[in-house]
Amino acid sequence: MQLTRFTDLGLRVVMRLAVVGEGERPGSREIADQLAVSYAHVAKVITRLGELGVVDARRGRSGGLAITELGRTASVGWLVRRLEGEGEVVECDGVNPCPLRAGCLLRSALRRAQEAFFESLDTLTIEDLTRTPTRTVLLALPRVGETSSAISATNGE
Ligand code: SF4
Repeated sequence: MQLTRFTDLGLRVVMRLAVVGEGERPGSREIADQLAVSYAHVAKVITRLGELGVVDARRGRSGGLAITELGRTASVGWLVRRLEGEGEVVECDGVNPCPLRAGCLLRSALRRAQEAFFESLDTLTIEDLTRTPTRTVLLALPRVGETSSAISATNGE
């Protein structure tokens, strides 16, 4: 099974925010730069993460992004389900509906496999995914105008 780019980016954003230092609130553009993706894509993902309650996004001078308690502790499976939506692994009913769909055992088998995939992620939280060595990599992501060593210093490492 392959995650959509939207879901993968959503997980990357939340993982990055999970290691932000105390009191820091990076902006969407900064996160986009650090993750080497377009600002437009990050902005869409952050809107959805805000709707789900896993990211707190504020505007203004003291604004910026922060992960919420729910974002830290919710299961990765829960988050992936919501970012992926209700779609199936294969499109049986699309523009050219499959002639087997009226009684296809493969379809039901794939549904079970998809649910097993999500369930395997239910045992993990974002905090689990941001332990070392991932934490070290996330903290070393360069910011615009700063070196990675400066980032480490900022985060007390
Ligand atoms: S063979 Fe089955 S799973 Fe594949 S597209 Fe057709 S109905 Fe869906």
